[in-house]
Amino acid sequence: MKTAIITGVMGQDGRFLAKLLLEKNYRVVGLISPDRKAHVPDWARNYAEVELVNVDFANIASLENAILELHPSELYNLAAASSVKYSFEHPLETAEITALMPLRILEVLRKNPSLNKTRLYQASSSEMFGNGSRGAKNENSELSPASPYAASKVFAHQACQMYKSAYGLFISCGILFNHESSLRSEEFVSRKITRDVARIVVGKKKKMVLGSLHPQRDWGFAGDYVEAMWKMLQYESAENFVVASGKPHSVFEFAATAIRAAGLKGDPMDYIETDSNFERPIEIDAIWGDATKANRILGWQPKVSFEVLIDRMVSFDIDLESKSLH
Ligand code: GDP
Repeated sequence: MKTAIITGVMGQDGRFLAKLLLEKNYRVVGLISPDRKAHVPDWARNYAEVELVNVDFANIASLENAILELHPSELYNLAAASSVKYSFEHPLETAEITALMPLRILEVLRKNPSLNKTRLYQASSSEMFGNGSRGAKNENSELSPASPYAASKVFAHQACQMYKSAYGLFISCGILFNHESSLRSEEFVSRKITRDVARIVVGKKKKMVLGSLHPQRDWGFAGDYVEAMWKMLQYESAENFVVASGKPHSVFEFAATAIRAAGLKGDPMDYIETDSNFERPIEIDAIWGDATKANRILGWQPKVSFEVLIDRMVSFDIDLESKSLH
């Protein structure tokens, strides 16, 4: 039985990935910081087979002890402070977990020859591209980070490239575009919209309040994207892969699609208000990916379309909001 370690196992991707790996018969161990313990009971009900081990991510000895003890075949580093807006407000906390923690993992792998067979997946992000070159982004596109979150991800991504070539470690970086599900928090616009649409449907709210409506993102379903992570670590060599749907949609289109999916009639703007408090100091206007390499080499392609994703998220949230009425 292979052992896989997941950091960030309590986040959206960690939960999808844990489920996938359990189905593939892995021993799955989530490293969590002790202060996340408060959240465990609710979460653990659905993921009883995932072992949880406490580590202090800020302390390399703590990480090293856990990794050496577990001796994983695969290590998925998904832990991050992943909200771009939060990162503008808390840049140091963001860099601590999103930039420095991956460097600690790299150091643990470099210093311990017994871990030389461990394959590392690093969760790189489409945010790293920022407002760089035009057109669809691939593995070779220019990195031009536009937030403390993106700058931290670039640091970790480049540290991975450097450790890979300097020390021959097996490190694959997945450059994932926005990927969503009903496990997303409302810090992200996708879930904020579907949750608010549901509140409008059940009469708890009249309008949703959003920031900029014009930015375009390439949205996919998180369940599809964790499959790509796993495939990357099964491939014969360590490579970087863009994971994306290839299709940009604006925030307005997301909201309008959700409004229609909920059966709300009339002009979408009847249900939307804007407030500049939800805007960012720098915005990425339009970004979408080219996942040709993942398709060609890993045989990966997304199964859930933009419309189906939104439809599912809206239905889930209408159920959730309806239940809370009774
Ligand atoms: P990001 O692409 O990683 O920043 O993912 P988000 O879901 O946080 O934001 C996607 C886009 O939605 C960005 O261009 C935001 O500026 C825009 N947006 C507009 N209104 C909101 C809002 O109320 N909350 C969030 N999180 N984003 C918003």
